[in-house]
Amino acid sequence: MNKENDWFELIELNDHLLCIREKLSEVDPRFLTEYTNFFLLIGSHTALLIDTGCGLFSIRTIIEPYIRNKKLLVINTHGHWDHVGGNYEFEKVHIHEQEVNLISKPLNLTILKDSSKKIVNSLHDVSFFIPPAPIVEPLKDNDQFNLGDLNIKIIHTPGHSNGSICILTNKGELFTGDTAHFGAIFLPKRKNLSRNISSLQKLIDLQNNAGLTAIYPSHEQLPTDLRLLVDLYNGISHIEDLWENKVKNSFLHSWVIDGGEFQYIVSKI
Ligand SMILES: [Zn+2]
Ligand SMILES: [Zn+2]
Repeated sequence: MNKENDWFELIELNDHLLCIREKLSEVDPRFLTEYTNFFLLIGSHTALLIDTGCGLFSIRTIIEPYIRNKKLLVINTHGHWDHVGGNYEFEKVHIHEQEVNLISKPLNLTILKDSSKKIVNSLHDVSFFIPPAPIVEPLKDNDQFNLGDLNIKIIHTPGHSNGSICILTNKGELFTGDTAHFGAIFLPKRKNLSRNISSLQKLIDLQNNAGLTAIYPSHEQLPTDLRLLVDLYNGISHIEDLWENKVKNSFLHSWVIDGGEFQYIVSKI
């Protein structure tokens, strides 16, 4: 796999947080998404890498200068390909217990065989199958990790996928994965949307009770507006009002509904 350093965009958000971005629109524009964001949270003795990107180019070489002699913990927000592709570069990766199996086998990226030459070349050596991390450890709701001067807590938020999680720091920073972001938001079948609504309610309760200082989603706008959770909750709760405007998208096996700041991608399968 190539070591291409100009593939990633690095954004130093504050003294303990780095965002690493890659252009999903350049990988394949048919996913209707411009950016994937992943994060390096740097505690006094341990750094936490939240997601590992598509795995097309080395993420490890990018983050090493920031980790230096600290321990490294790697957590996936969920098991979708654009979040776990770089897992192979790390000895051990954590994910919610419901998605351990999903990332314990080689990642099939044959969906990208029609992508640009740059993308196809980076996957050629592995014949479109990226190996998994050697060790995959299960996470549960409310699990906590100490990074030194920072603590993090796992919040299980099923909906986008069964094992989707969010990560909350003791500074009130919330990493929402694909559970909440602006832009194209990928949802399960229409009859299962109540799980997404319950998970968003759980996050809104957190926002109201504990107070959030920042929300960092895995796609698109960053840093994002704190009204994201409530706006998305209201949008999905009233999706029936927009249902007549749905457009079929065969590539995504979904209905696409334009909802202003959100584009709802509702799975048909
Ligand atoms: Zn996803
Ligand atoms: Zn995603």
